[in-house]
Amino acid sequence: MTERLYYHDSYLRQFEARVVKSEQTAQGCEVVLDATAFYPTSGGQPHDQGIMASARIHEVVERDDEIVHCLTSPVVGEHLQCEIDWVRRFDHMQQHTGQHVLSQAFVRAAKRNTVGFHMGADYVTIDLDAEAVSSQQISEAEHLANEIVYENRAVGVRTVPEAEVPALGLRKESQRTGPLRVVSVEDFDVSACGGTHVRRTGEIGSVVIRKVERINRQARVEFVCGRRSVVSGQRDLETLSRVARQLSVGLSEVPARIEKQIEESRQLRKTLQVKNKMLASLLAKELYAQVREEQGSRIVKQLFENEEMEFLKLLGQALLSQGNCVVLLASGGPQGALLFAQSDNLPGDLRKILPECCQLIEGKGGGTRTLVQAGGKNTGMLQQALDLAEQRIIDKSAADPR
Ligand SMILES: [Zn+2]
Repeated sequence: MTERLYYHDSYLRQFEARVVKSEQTAQGCEVVLDATAFYPTSGGQPHDQGIMASARIHEVVERDDEIVHCLTSPVVGEHLQCEIDWVRRFDHMQQHTGQHVLSQAFVRAAKRNTVGFHMGADYVTIDLDAEAVSSQQISEAEHLANEIVYENRAVGVRTVPEAEVPALGLRKESQRTGPLRVVSVEDFDVSACGGTHVRRTGEIGSVVIRKVERINRQARVEFVCGRRSVVSGQRDLETLSRVARQLSVGLSEVPARIEKQIEESRQLRKTLQVKNKMLASLLAKELYAQVREEQGSRIVKQLFENEEMEFLKLLGQALLSQGNCVVLLASGGPQGALLFAQSDNLPGDLRKILPECCQLIEGKGGGTRTLVQAGGKNTGMLQQALDLAEQRIIDKSAADPR
């Protein structure tokens, strides 16, 4: 059974311990000491990292009553000097103690209990036993948590005999038997916990809620404390500043400016649709006039460099309204597009000639007897696809004159 030094002193960074067990593994080696300050992954808090002799510790796990240190290389000697990665550990202490405070703040501000806790690399989450919490409850809980931080209350750790546990008024009932490790925030919160915590709430620095979302009939609250809140604040400011610079406005004017731009582009889109309709109608007249009528019908064929399918449809309609014709349109762009249409009273089925054309442009499509469309990635073959479609229509009408 490994003695857990972090239970008594979470500020202990360097220590010497005796090797109890050491085993080679594929990744390096695993070492069990008689005592350790390295925290193993448990209770929602990730493991510590650091150095043992000259080897790096990349993981610490709990196996039965032993704490196993996973090293990247073997170590020699019976007594080893160890040092934990303090930046990482202190960050965990800030987040974890912040979690105790925030969970109690949600009890007081919203009567919501914490049923889950997870500490990720960038942010921390707690799950509340509620599908939703109001934005007022969220800001009240956040406000209260930060008040507790500013008041710099003492955070105490003690081990309580099982018989005295019921009288403690734990925030969340413990399933453990035997003596219980209890962490309390002065006159605020009492919880059973095996993690590492700061001595006073002031060291939490700050508690910032970043997001609340509904997950599995619970409300998941994402938050950051201490250094993480500074880092995330800086990152957000950088993002916002970049947007503001692009828009040439002050930070506070960004939302209004973006709203305005969205509205403007909506209007532009509308105007464009009207102009496209006009353009399609003019272009249809011209294209229709350019081709000769054969057996009472015309074939209008046109390749565009970069037009949306929407425009091809408008043009197709406009062409059909000119008189009897078969319309073969294509456009390049990010993706190749084909649109074939024909007057209702003409024989033939456009669906029959589409597959061959699709093959050429490496795409797929479909439609009705008189209107088909397709998209494909090989834009270099669009002209060939149009020519092929035209040839098939000529062949068909030669074989089957009206
Ligand atoms: Zn804790």
